[in-house]
Amino acid sequence: MKEKTMVNNNPWKRAQKQLRKAARYIKLDPLTLAKLSNPDRVVEVSLPIKLGSGEIKVFQGYRVQHNNIRGPYKGGLRYHQKVDMDEVKALAFWMTIKNAVVNVPFGGGKGGIAVDPKTLEELELEKLTRQFTRKIADFIGPQKDVPAPDVNTNPKIMSWIKNEYSNLTGQDSPAVVTGKPIEDGGSQGRTEATGLGGVYALLTVLSKLGKDPKGMSVAIQGFGNVGSFLAKFLQKEGFKVVALSDSKGGIYIPDGIRDIDEVKRCKEEKGLLAGCYCVGSVCDLKNMKNLGGKNIEADKVLTLPVDIIVPAALENSITKENAEKITAKIILEMANGPTTLEADEILQKKDVVVIPDILANSGGVAVSYFEWYQNLNSKHWGKEEVFKKLREKMEKATGKVLDTSNKYGVSLREAAYIVALNRIQEKSQNILSLK
Ligand code: NAD
Repeated sequence: MKEKTMVNNNPWKRAQKQLRKAARYIKLDPLTLAKLSNPDRVVEVSLPIKLGSGEIKVFQGYRVQHNNIRGPYKGGLRYHQKVDMDEVKALAFWMTIKNAVVNVPFGGGKGGIAVDPKTLEELELEKLTRQFTRKIADFIGPQKDVPAPDVNTNPKIMSWIKNEYSNLTGQDSPAVVTGKPIEDGGSQGRTEATGLGGVYALLTVLSKLGKDPKGMSVAIQGFGNVGSFLAKFLQKEGFKVVALSDSKGGIYIPDGIRDIDEVKRCKEEKGLLAGCYCVGSVCDLKNMKNLGGKNIEADKVLTLPVDIIVPAALENSITKENAEKITAKIILEMANGPTTLEADEILQKKDVVVIPDILANSGGVAVSYFEWYQNLNSKHWGKEEVFKKLREKMEKATGKVLDTSNKYGVSLREAAYIVALNRIQEKSQNILSLK
Protein backbone atom coordinates (compact mmCIF):
# COMPACT_ATOMS: atom_id res chain seq x y z
CA MET A 1 0.00 0.00 0.00
CA LYS A 2 2.85 2.35 0.96
CA GLU A 3 4.68 1.38 -2.23
CA LYS A 4 1.55 2.18 -4.32
CA THR A 5 1.20 5.65 -2.80
CA MET A 6 4.88 6.30 -3.47
CA VAL A 7 4.39 5.50 -7.16
CA ASN A 8 1.39 7.80 -7.30
CA ASN A 9 3.16 10.68 -5.58
CA ASN A 10 6.52 10.30 -7.33
CA PRO A 11 5.96 12.39 -10.47
CA TRP A 12 8.52 10.48 -12.57
CA LYS A 13 6.98 7.07 -11.75
CA ARG A 14 3.54 8.53 -12.47
CA ALA A 15 4.72 9.95 -15.80
CA GLN A 16 6.01 6.50 -16.82
CA LYS A 17 2.68 4.90 -15.88
CA GLN A 18 0.76 7.50 -17.90
CA LEU A 19 3.03 6.81 -20.87
CA ARG A 20 2.58 3.03 -20.76
CA LYS A 21 -1.21 3.37 -20.39
CA ALA A 22 -1.54 5.72 -23.37
CA ALA A 23 0.92 3.70 -25.48
CA ARG A 24 -1.48 0.74 -25.40
CA TYR A 25 -4.29 2.69 -27.10
CA ILE A 26 -2.28 3.34 -30.24
CA LYS A 27 0.00 0.31 -30.13
CA LEU A 28 3.04 2.58 -29.90
CA ASP A 29 6.00 0.85 -31.50
CA PRO A 30 8.35 -0.62 -28.88
CA LEU A 31 11.36 1.41 -30.03
CA THR A 32 9.56 4.76 -29.65
CA LEU A 33 8.22 3.58 -26.28
CA ALA A 34 11.76 2.70 -25.19
CA LYS A 35 13.02 6.12 -26.31
CA LEU A 36 10.36 7.90 -24.29
CA SER A 37 10.73 5.72 -21.20
CA ASN A 38 13.98 7.40 -20.15
CA PRO A 39 15.53 10.82 -20.69
CA ASP A 40 18.17 11.14 -23.43
CA ARG A 41 20.54 12.87 -21.02
CA VAL A 42 20.62 14.10 -17.44
CA VAL A 43 23.04 16.77 -16.28
CA GLU A 44 23.64 17.39 -12.59
CA VAL A 45 25.97 20.14 -11.44
CA SER A 46 27.30 21.37 -8.15
CA LEU A 47 27.06 25.12 -7.59
CA PRO A 48 29.16 26.48 -4.71
CA ILE A 49 28.72 30.20 -4.10
CA LYS A 50 29.99 32.68 -1.55
CA LEU A 51 27.07 34.55 0.02
CA GLY A 52 27.18 38.24 0.94
CA SER A 53 27.74 37.17 4.55
CA GLY A 54 30.93 35.35 3.55
CA GLU A 55 29.34 31.93 4.11
CA ILE A 56 29.91 29.30 1.37
CA LYS A 57 26.84 27.38 0.25
CA VAL A 58 26.62 24.57 -2.28
CA PHE A 59 23.47 24.12 -4.39
CA GLN A 60 22.56 21.30 -6.80
CA GLY A 61 21.49 22.19 -10.34
CA TYR A 62 19.79 19.93 -12.88
CA ARG A 63 19.01 19.91 -16.58
CA VAL A 64 17.18 16.91 -17.99
CA GLN A 65 16.92 16.49 -21.76
CA HIS A 66 14.12 14.03 -22.18
CA ASN A 67 13.64 13.71 -25.92
CA ASN A 68 14.42 15.69 -29.11
CA ILE A 69 12.69 13.67 -31.83
CA ARG A 70 10.48 16.65 -32.72
CA GLY A 71 13.07 19.42 -32.27
CA PRO A 72 15.44 21.04 -29.74
CA TYR A 73 14.82 20.20 -26.07
CA LYS A 74 12.57 22.85 -24.56
CA GLY A 75 11.30 23.50 -21.06
CA GLY A 76 11.54 25.70 -18.01
CA LEU A 77 13.93 26.16 -15.12
CA ARG A 78 12.55 25.94 -11.61
CA TYR A 79 14.15 27.39 -8.49
CA HIS A 80 12.63 25.67 -5.47
CA GLN A 81 13.93 23.94 -2.37
CA LYS A 82 12.10 20.73 -3.31
CA VAL A 83 13.60 20.38 -6.80
CA ASP A 84 15.15 16.93 -7.27
CA MET A 85 16.09 14.64 -10.14
CA ASP A 86 12.83 12.66 -10.24
CA GLU A 87 10.76 15.84 -10.30
CA VAL A 88 12.85 17.33 -13.11
CA LYS A 89 12.72 14.06 -15.11
CA ALA A 90 8.92 14.02 -14.89
CA LEU A 91 8.63 17.69 -15.83
CA ALA A 92 10.97 17.12 -18.81
CA PHE A 93 8.89 14.15 -19.96
CA TRP A 94 5.66 16.17 -19.70
CA MET A 95 7.33 18.86 -21.87
CA THR A 96 8.00 16.30 -24.63
CA ILE A 97 4.33 15.35 -24.55
CA LYS A 98 3.03 18.92 -24.17
CA ASN A 99 5.10 20.27 -27.06
CA ALA A 100 3.67 17.55 -29.28
CA VAL A 101 0.07 18.24 -28.11
CA VAL A 102 0.31 21.95 -28.90
CA ASN A 103 2.29 21.06 -32.02
CA VAL A 104 5.42 23.18 -31.70
CA PRO A 105 8.70 21.85 -33.20
CA PHE A 106 10.38 21.09 -29.89
CA GLY A 107 11.28 18.09 -27.80
CA GLY A 108 11.14 18.17 -24.01
CA GLY A 109 13.56 19.31 -21.33
CA LYS A 110 13.43 20.81 -17.87
CA GLY A 111 15.83 22.00 -15.24
CA GLY A 112 16.18 23.66 -11.94
CA ILE A 113 18.17 24.42 -8.86
CA ALA A 114 17.33 23.14 -5.38
CA VAL A 115 17.19 26.54 -3.70
CA ASP A 116 14.64 28.76 -2.04
CA PRO A 117 15.39 31.95 -3.97
CA LYS A 118 13.58 34.05 -1.36
CA THR A 119 16.50 33.39 1.01
CA LEU A 120 19.06 34.90 -1.39
CA GLU A 121 19.98 38.51 -2.18
CA GLU A 122 19.59 39.48 -5.83
CA LEU A 123 23.36 39.50 -6.40
CA GLU A 124 23.66 35.99 -4.90
CA LEU A 125 20.86 34.75 -7.17
CA GLU A 126 22.58 36.28 -10.19
CA LYS A 127 25.91 34.63 -9.27
CA LEU A 128 24.14 31.29 -8.85
CA THR A 129 22.33 31.62 -12.19
CA ARG A 130 25.46 32.64 -14.07
CA GLN A 131 27.46 29.75 -12.60
CA PHE A 132 24.65 27.32 -13.50
CA THR A 133 24.65 28.70 -17.06
CA ARG A 134 28.41 28.20 -17.40
CA LYS A 135 28.14 24.62 -16.18
CA ILE A 136 25.35 23.64 -18.59
CA ALA A 137 26.51 25.85 -21.50
CA ASP A 138 27.83 22.92 -23.55
CA PHE A 139 24.41 21.32 -23.51
CA ILE A 140 22.14 24.30 -24.30
CA GLY A 141 21.81 26.52 -27.38
CA PRO A 142 19.17 27.81 -29.81
CA GLN A 143 19.19 24.56 -31.81
CA LYS A 144 20.02 22.24 -28.88
CA ASP A 145 18.09 23.05 -25.73
CA VAL A 146 16.17 26.23 -24.93
CA PRO A 147 15.26 26.91 -21.25
CA ALA A 148 12.43 29.22 -20.11
CA PRO A 149 10.90 30.47 -16.84
CA ASP A 150 9.00 28.21 -14.43
CA VAL A 151 8.30 28.37 -10.69
CA ASN A 152 10.30 31.19 -9.04
CA THR A 153 12.18 32.14 -12.21
CA ASN A 154 11.40 35.19 -14.32
CA PRO A 155 12.46 37.36 -17.28
CA LYS A 156 15.35 38.88 -15.32
CA ILE A 157 16.83 35.43 -14.65
CA MET A 158 16.40 34.53 -18.35
CA SER A 159 18.29 37.71 -19.23
CA TRP A 160 21.25 36.70 -17.02
CA ILE A 161 21.33 33.29 -18.74
CA LYS A 162 21.21 34.82 -22.22
CA ASN A 163 23.94 37.28 -21.29
CA GLU A 164 26.25 34.69 -19.70
CA TYR A 165 25.77 32.26 -22.59
CA SER A 166 26.39 35.01 -25.19
CA ASN A 167 29.59 36.07 -23.36
CA LEU A 168 30.84 32.48 -23.27
CA THR A 169 30.14 31.76 -26.93
CA GLY A 170 31.19 35.20 -28.13
CA GLN A 171 27.93 35.56 -30.04
CA ASP A 172 24.74 37.38 -29.15
CA SER A 173 22.28 34.46 -28.78
CA PRO A 174 18.83 35.67 -27.72
CA ALA A 175 17.23 32.38 -28.87
CA VAL A 176 19.11 30.36 -26.20
CA VAL A 177 16.28 31.11 -23.73
CA THR A 178 12.70 32.32 -23.97
CA GLY A 179 10.68 34.38 -21.52
CA LYS A 180 13.23 37.21 -21.70
CA PRO A 181 12.34 40.87 -21.03
CA ILE A 182 11.02 42.56 -24.19
CA GLU A 183 14.04 44.89 -24.41
CA ASP A 184 16.31 41.85 -24.36
CA GLY A 185 14.60 39.98 -27.21
CA GLY A 186 11.53 38.69 -25.37
CA SER A 187 8.17 38.34 -27.09
CA GLN A 188 5.16 40.49 -26.43
CA GLY A 189 2.62 38.43 -24.51
CA ARG A 190 4.98 35.73 -23.13
CA THR A 191 4.37 36.71 -19.49
CA GLU A 192 0.61 36.40 -19.87
CA ALA A 193 0.71 33.43 -22.27
CA THR A 194 0.30 30.45 -19.94
CA GLY A 195 -2.68 31.95 -18.11
CA LEU A 196 -4.33 33.25 -21.26
CA GLY A 197 -3.74 29.96 -23.09
CA GLY A 198 -5.54 28.18 -20.24
CA VAL A 199 -8.55 30.45 -20.72
CA TYR A 200 -8.66 29.65 -24.45
CA ALA A 201 -8.50 25.91 -23.72
CA LEU A 202 -11.28 26.21 -21.13
CA LEU A 203 -13.52 28.26 -23.45
CA THR A 204 -13.10 25.67 -26.21
CA VAL A 205 -14.08 22.83 -23.86
CA LEU A 206 -17.08 24.77 -22.47
CA SER A 207 -18.29 25.54 -25.98
CA LYS A 208 -18.13 21.81 -26.81
CA LEU A 209 -20.07 21.03 -23.61
CA GLY A 210 -22.64 23.71 -24.56
CA LYS A 211 -21.99 25.67 -21.34
CA ASP A 212 -22.07 29.46 -21.04
CA PRO A 213 -18.99 30.74 -19.17
CA LYS A 214 -20.80 33.87 -17.93
CA GLY A 215 -21.07 33.76 -14.17
CA MET A 216 -19.41 30.35 -13.72
CA SER A 217 -17.56 30.39 -10.38
CA VAL A 218 -13.84 29.61 -10.23
CA ALA A 219 -11.40 28.94 -7.37
CA ILE A 220 -7.67 29.15 -8.11
CA GLN A 221 -4.82 27.60 -6.11
CA GLY A 222 -1.53 29.45 -6.71
CA PHE A 223 -1.30 33.17 -7.44
CA GLY A 224 2.06 33.48 -9.19
CA ASN A 225 2.68 34.19 -12.84
CA VAL A 226 0.18 31.62 -14.11
CA GLY A 227 -2.59 31.99 -11.50
CA SER A 228 -2.64 35.79 -11.51
CA PHE A 229 -2.94 36.23 -15.28
CA LEU A 230 -5.41 33.38 -15.51
CA ALA A 231 -7.61 35.05 -12.89
CA LYS A 232 -7.52 38.33 -14.76
CA PHE A 233 -8.37 36.87 -18.16
CA LEU A 234 -11.10 34.62 -16.73
CA GLN A 235 -12.76 37.64 -15.20
CA LYS A 236 -12.54 39.49 -18.52
CA GLU A 237 -14.41 36.59 -20.16
CA GLY A 238 -17.23 36.85 -17.60
CA PHE A 239 -16.26 34.07 -15.16
CA LYS A 240 -16.72 34.83 -11.46
CA VAL A 241 -13.38 34.32 -9.68
CA VAL A 242 -14.35 33.68 -6.05
CA ALA A 243 -11.19 32.33 -4.40
CA LEU A 244 -7.44 32.73 -4.72
CA SER A 245 -4.59 31.28 -2.69
CA ASP A 246 -0.83 31.22 -2.38
CA SER A 247 1.37 28.98 -0.23
CA LYS A 248 0.48 30.88 2.95
CA GLY A 249 -3.31 31.16 2.67
CA GLY A 250 -6.11 32.56 0.61
CA ILE A 251 -9.12 34.81 0.18
CA TYR A 252 -12.67 33.73 -0.60
CA ILE A 253 -15.51 36.06 -1.63
CA PRO A 254 -18.56 34.03 -2.80
CA ASP A 255 -19.93 37.09 -4.69
CA GLY A 256 -16.71 37.37 -6.68
CA ILE A 257 -13.34 39.06 -6.21
CA ARG A 258 -13.65 42.45 -7.88
CA ASP A 259 -10.23 43.83 -8.76
CA ILE A 260 -7.62 41.16 -9.42
CA ASP A 261 -4.97 43.81 -10.21
CA GLU A 262 -5.41 45.37 -6.77
CA VAL A 263 -5.15 41.95 -5.12
CA LYS A 264 -1.95 41.34 -7.06
CA ARG A 265 -0.51 44.69 -6.00
CA CYS A 266 -1.47 43.94 -2.38
CA LYS A 267 0.26 40.52 -2.50
CA GLU A 268 3.38 42.08 -3.99
CA GLU A 269 3.45 44.75 -1.29
CA LYS A 270 2.71 42.47 1.69
CA GLY A 271 4.42 39.34 0.37
CA LEU A 272 1.28 37.28 0.94
CA LEU A 273 -2.27 37.06 -0.34
CA ALA A 274 -4.10 36.43 2.92
CA GLY A 275 -5.99 39.55 4.00
CA CYS A 276 -5.93 41.15 0.53
CA TYR A 277 -9.60 42.16 0.57
CA CYS A 278 -9.61 45.19 -1.73
CA VAL A 279 -12.11 48.00 -2.05
CA GLY A 280 -10.68 50.46 -4.55
CA SER A 281 -7.00 50.75 -3.74
CA VAL A 282 -7.49 49.95 -0.04
CA CYS A 283 -6.68 46.30 0.62
CA ASP A 284 -7.30 45.30 4.16
CA LEU A 285 -8.65 42.52 6.34
CA LYS A 286 -11.16 45.10 7.59
CA ASN A 287 -12.91 44.98 4.21
CA MET A 288 -13.52 41.24 4.51
CA LYS A 289 -16.87 41.50 6.27
CA ASN A 290 -18.29 44.17 3.95
CA LEU A 291 -17.39 42.05 0.93
CA GLY A 292 -18.93 38.94 2.48
CA GLY A 293 -15.49 37.30 2.40
CA LYS A 294 -13.92 34.52 4.45
CA ASN A 295 -10.29 33.68 5.10
CA ILE A 296 -9.37 30.30 3.76
CA GLU A 297 -6.47 27.90 4.27
CA ALA A 298 -4.31 27.32 1.19
CA ASP A 299 -5.26 23.66 0.82
CA LYS A 300 -9.03 24.24 1.16
CA VAL A 301 -9.41 26.24 -2.05
CA LEU A 302 -9.81 23.16 -4.21
CA THR A 303 -12.76 21.81 -2.25
CA LEU A 304 -14.89 24.96 -2.31
CA PRO A 305 -18.43 24.73 -3.77
CA VAL A 306 -17.60 26.20 -7.21
CA ASP A 307 -18.09 25.25 -10.87
CA ILE A 308 -14.41 25.16 -11.80
CA ILE A 309 -11.23 24.64 -9.79
CA VAL A 310 -7.76 25.50 -11.03
CA PRO A 311 -4.62 24.05 -9.46
CA ALA A 312 -1.91 26.55 -10.52
CA ALA A 313 0.79 25.88 -7.90
CA LEU A 314 2.87 22.68 -7.70
CA GLU A 315 2.58 18.91 -8.27
CA ASN A 316 0.38 16.57 -6.21
CA SER A 317 -2.17 19.09 -4.94
CA ILE A 318 -5.11 16.83 -5.85
CA THR A 319 -4.68 13.52 -4.06
CA LYS A 320 -6.90 10.64 -3.00
CA GLU A 321 -7.39 12.52 0.29
CA ASN A 322 -9.08 15.60 -1.21
CA ALA A 323 -10.38 14.24 -4.56
CA GLU A 324 -13.52 12.82 -2.90
CA LYS A 325 -14.30 16.24 -1.44
CA ILE A 326 -14.08 18.09 -4.74
CA THR A 327 -17.51 19.22 -5.89
CA ALA A 328 -16.47 21.22 -8.97
CA LYS A 329 -17.41 19.54 -12.24
CA ILE A 330 -14.49 20.98 -14.21
CA ILE A 331 -10.76 21.08 -13.36
CA LEU A 332 -8.36 23.20 -15.36
CA GLU A 333 -4.86 21.90 -14.60
CA MET A 334 -2.58 24.90 -14.96
CA ALA A 335 0.18 23.47 -12.72
CA ASN A 336 2.26 20.61 -14.05
CA GLY A 337 1.31 17.24 -12.59
CA PRO A 338 -1.19 18.50 -9.98
CA THR A 339 -3.26 15.29 -9.89
CA THR A 340 -2.00 11.96 -8.56
CA LEU A 341 -2.99 8.74 -10.36
CA GLU A 342 -5.33 7.68 -7.56
CA ALA A 343 -7.03 11.09 -7.57
CA ASP A 344 -7.38 10.95 -11.35
CA GLU A 345 -9.28 7.65 -11.06
CA ILE A 346 -11.59 9.07 -8.40
CA LEU A 347 -12.32 12.14 -10.53
CA GLN A 348 -13.06 10.01 -13.59
CA LYS A 349 -15.57 7.97 -11.58
CA LYS A 350 -17.20 11.22 -10.49
CA ASP A 351 -17.44 12.36 -14.14
CA VAL A 352 -15.35 15.44 -13.49
CA VAL A 353 -14.00 16.94 -16.71
CA VAL A 354 -10.25 17.32 -16.21
CA ILE A 355 -8.53 19.56 -18.77
CA PRO A 356 -5.04 18.11 -18.43
CA ASP A 357 -1.84 20.07 -17.75
CA ILE A 358 -0.21 18.93 -20.99
CA LEU A 359 -2.95 20.82 -22.85
CA ALA A 360 -4.17 23.48 -20.40
CA ASN A 361 -0.80 25.11 -19.66
CA SER A 362 0.75 24.69 -23.11
CA GLY A 363 0.09 28.36 -24.00
CA GLY A 364 3.37 29.27 -22.30
CA VAL A 365 5.49 27.09 -24.52
CA ALA A 366 3.45 28.09 -27.58
CA VAL A 367 4.47 31.72 -27.08
CA SER A 368 8.00 30.59 -26.17
CA TYR A 369 8.05 29.05 -29.63
CA PHE A 370 6.85 32.37 -31.10
CA GLU A 371 9.67 34.15 -29.21
CA TRP A 372 12.32 31.70 -30.43
CA TYR A 373 10.99 31.99 -33.98
CA GLN A 374 11.01 35.82 -33.87
CA ASN A 375 14.59 35.83 -32.48
CA LEU A 376 15.85 33.52 -35.21
CA ASN A 377 14.06 35.42 -37.98
CA SER A 378 14.57 39.01 -36.67
CA LYS A 379 10.83 39.57 -36.37
CA HIS A 380 8.87 41.60 -33.79
CA TRP A 381 5.20 40.76 -33.52
CA GLY A 382 2.79 43.01 -31.62
CA LYS A 383 0.84 41.73 -28.62
CA GLU A 384 -2.44 41.45 -30.53
CA GLU A 385 -0.80 39.32 -33.19
CA VAL A 386 0.79 37.06 -30.55
CA PHE A 387 -2.54 36.62 -28.72
CA LYS A 388 -4.32 35.86 -32.01
CA LYS A 389 -1.74 33.20 -32.89
CA LEU A 390 -1.94 31.82 -29.33
CA ARG A 391 -5.72 31.58 -29.52
CA GLU A 392 -5.50 29.70 -32.84
CA LYS A 393 -2.92 27.26 -31.44
CA MET A 394 -4.90 26.58 -28.25
CA GLU A 395 -8.23 26.15 -30.04
CA LYS A 396 -6.69 23.78 -32.57
CA ALA A 397 -4.91 21.69 -29.93
CA THR A 398 -8.00 21.56 -27.69
CA GLY A 399 -10.26 20.68 -30.63
CA LYS A 400 -7.94 17.82 -31.62
CA VAL A 401 -7.88 16.48 -28.04
CA LEU A 402 -11.69 16.71 -27.78
CA ASP A 403 -12.15 14.84 -31.08
CA THR A 404 -9.64 12.15 -30.03
CA SER A 405 -11.40 11.75 -26.68
CA ASN A 406 -14.65 11.17 -28.56
CA LYS A 407 -13.13 8.79 -31.06
CA TYR A 408 -11.44 6.53 -28.48
CA GLY A 409 -13.96 7.03 -25.67
CA VAL A 410 -11.20 8.14 -23.27
CA SER A 411 -10.54 11.03 -20.88
CA LEU A 412 -9.06 14.29 -22.15
CA ARG A 413 -5.74 13.34 -20.50
CA GLU A 414 -5.54 10.02 -22.31
CA ALA A 415 -6.65 11.72 -25.54
CA ALA A 416 -3.88 14.34 -25.21
CA TYR A 417 -1.33 11.53 -24.77
CA ILE A 418 -2.69 9.75 -27.84
CA VAL A 419 -2.39 12.93 -29.94
CA ALA A 420 1.18 13.50 -28.72
CA LEU A 421 2.39 9.92 -29.08
CA ASN A 422 1.01 9.68 -32.62
CA ARG A 423 2.89 12.85 -33.59
CA ILE A 424 6.14 11.70 -31.95
CA GLN A 425 5.90 8.25 -33.50
CA GLU A 426 5.24 9.72 -36.96
CA LYS A 427 8.32 11.95 -36.73
CA SER A 428 10.44 9.13 -35.35
CA GLN A 429 9.52 6.87 -38.25
CA ASN A 430 10.49 9.55 -40.76
CA ILE A 431 14.05 9.85 -39.45
CA LEU A 432 16.18 6.97 -40.67
CA SER A 433 18.78 7.21 -37.91
CA LEU A 434 16.01 6.85 -35.33
CA LYS A 435 14.59 3.63 -36.77
P1 NAD B 1 5.19 31.09 -9.60
O1 NAD B 1 6.42 30.83 -8.83
O2 NAD B 1 5.06 32.41 -10.30
O3 NAD B 1 3.90 30.91 -8.66
C1 NAD B 1 3.63 29.76 -7.91
C2 NAD B 1 2.51 30.11 -6.94
O4 NAD B 1 2.08 28.93 -6.27
C3 NAD B 1 2.90 31.10 -5.86
O5 NAD B 1 1.85 32.03 -5.69
C4 NAD B 1 3.03 30.22 -4.61
O6 NAD B 1 2.79 30.94 -3.41
C5 NAD B 1 1.93 29.24 -4.89
N1 NAD B 1 1.97 28.01 -4.09
C6 NAD B 1 3.01 27.20 -3.83
N2 NAD B 1 2.59 26.19 -3.02
C7 NAD B 1 1.27 26.40 -2.80
C8 NAD B 1 0.27 25.72 -2.04
N3 NAD B 1 0.56 24.61 -1.37
N4 NAD B 1 -0.98 26.22 -2.04
C9 NAD B 1 -1.30 27.34 -2.71
N5 NAD B 1 -0.40 28.02 -3.45
C10 NAD B 1 0.87 27.56 -3.47
O7 NAD B 1 5.06 29.88 -10.64
P2 NAD B 1 4.24 29.84 -11.99
O8 NAD B 1 5.15 30.17 -13.10
O9 NAD B 1 2.96 30.57 -11.81
O10 NAD B 1 3.95 28.26 -12.10
C11 NAD B 1 2.84 27.64 -11.45
C12 NAD B 1 2.64 26.25 -12.07
O11 NAD B 1 2.41 26.39 -13.48
C13 NAD B 1 3.83 25.31 -11.93
O12 NAD B 1 3.36 23.99 -11.79
C14 NAD B 1 4.54 25.44 -13.27
O13 NAD B 1 5.32 24.32 -13.59
C15 NAD B 1 3.33 25.58 -14.18
N6 NAD B 1 3.63 26.19 -15.47
C16 NAD B 1 4.19 27.43 -15.55
C17 NAD B 1 4.43 27.99 -16.80
C18 NAD B 1 4.96 29.38 -16.95
O14 NAD B 1 4.99 29.88 -18.09
N7 NAD B 1 5.36 30.07 -15.90
C19 NAD B 1 4.13 27.27 -17.97
C20 NAD B 1 3.54 26.00 -17.84
C21 NAD B 1 3.30 25.48 -16.59
